[in-house]
Amino acid sequence: MDNHSMLRIPVTCPECCRESVMELTVSELAIALLADGCVRLSASCHDVSWNASVAETDQIRRYLRAHQMPPPARPWIKTPGIRAIPMSHAD
Ligand SMILES: [Zn+2]
Repeated sequence: MDNHSMLRIPVTCPECCRESVMELTVSELAIALLADGCVRLSASCHDVSWNASVAETDQIRRYLRAHQMPPPARPWIKTPGIRAIPMSHAD
């Protein structure tokens, strides 16, 4: 697993309720969750930071878990078949 890959987490600014996306590395998040049990979030629109709420932490855990899972096999997506074009020899 690549611990340096970025995880994008949607955050809602407590000042203006604007949604933004915060980028954290997987290792940063894992350490924050394991060591502190919470993640420090910050908004880009305002100079504020806050501890993730229970709901936010739960969401972050889900993002992390989804990230760690291998990409799902998608047997239901069929590769586009090459349409057989009948050769016309009308010459
Ligand atoms: Zn804001």
